Amino acid sequence: MTTDVIQTVAVVGAGTMGRGIAQVAALAGYQVVLYDVADEVLANALAGIRASIDKGVARGKTAESVAEAAKSAFRLTTALSEAAQADLVIEAAPEKLALKREIFATLDANAPAHTILASNTSSLSINVLAGATNRPERFLGLHFFNPAHIMKLVEVIRADFTSAETLQTGLAFVERLGKTAVLCKDTPAFIVNRVARPFYGEAFRMLGEEVADVATIDRLLKSVGFRMGPFELVDLIGCDVNFAVTQSVYEAYFHDPKYRPHPIQKRMVESGRLGRKTGQGFYDYRQDE
Ligand code: NAD
Repeated sequence: MTTDVIQTVAVVGAGTMGRGIAQVAALAGYQVVLYDVADEVLANALAGIRASIDKGVARGKTAESVAEAAKSAFRLTTALSEAAQADLVIEAAPEKLALKREIFATLDANAPAHTILASNTSSLSINVLAGATNRPERFLGLHFFNPAHIMKLVEVIRADFTSAETLQTGLAFVERLGKTAVLCKDTPAFIVNRVARPFYGEAFRMLGEEVADVATIDRLLKSVGFRMGPFELVDLIGCDVNFAVTQSVYEAYFHDPKYRPHPIQKRMVESGRLGRKTGQGFYDYRQDE
C-alpha cells in the first residue's frame, strides 16, 4: 500500500499529541476520524484544532481554502470500532502498556485487513504493542514530537515484523505531512528520547541537590543554545507523560542508573502539577488562560 491508498486517518486519543497529529493530517488533505473516551474531550479537541488552524491562516502559513477544507475533515467518535475503519490508525493514548495493548487488540479485531496500525508511544516497545494484534507486518511506530503541528521530525519505527511495504507507506505518509522522517529500529526510547533522558535527569538531580532553582537552570541551558530549558520542556510535554516515559525507559534498560527517575517527578505528578495542561507545573500558567 502506498500513501495514495490512505485516505482516512484515525487518531486514537485527542490529547496534546493526538490533536496536533490530527491537525497536520487534515491539513495534508486526509479525512480524519478522532477518537477519545468522552464527547466533551472530543469537542474541546476539535475547537482547539480549529483555533490552531485559524492561527496558521492569520500568520500567513496556511491558505484559507486549505484551512476551510481541513476544518471540515473531522469526524468525532467514542467508538473504537469506528476508528478502526480508517486506512491508517495512529494511537496517541496515555503511555500505559496494558491500556495500549488493549486498544490495539480491539482495533485489530475491528479493522479491515488492509488497515495499518501505528503507535505514537515515546518509550514502549513497538514489538510488544504489535504483539497484541494479528497484523505485526502492518504495524509500526510513528513518533511525533511536541507540538506535533510544528515539529518537523517524526521517528518512523520498524519492529521485527514490520513489512517493507508498511514502512514505505509510513515514510510516504510522513513526507506528505511535510515532515522529516527518520527511520529507526525498535529500541528502548528510540533515538531522540534516549538522548533526551539525561537532559531531564541531570536537571532534576541539580534541582534536588539545590544547585540552582528552576528558572536559573532553564536560563543557563538556553544561554548555551537550547531552545527551551528542561523544566519549560517538561511543563510543555506534561509532567505525567515525562514521568511515565522516564519510568518505562528505566525499566527497558534494566534499571541502568543513568535513566533513573527522580522523586521530584513523582511529587509533581501526585500533586497534580502536570504543566501547561493543568495551569501549573514548574511554572505557573494560570494567568495565561
Ligand atoms: P495526553 O494525556 O495529553 O492525552 C491522552 C489522551 O488519551 C487524552 O485525551 C485522554 O482522554 C485519552 N485517553 C484516555 N484513555 C484512553 C483510552 N482508553 N483510549 C484512547 N484514548 C484515551 O497525552 P499525550 O501527551 O498526548 O501523549 C499521548 C501519547 O503520545 C503517549 O504515548 C506519549 O508518550 C506520546 N508522546 C507524547 C509527547 C509529549 O510531549 N506529550 C511527545 C511524543 C509522544
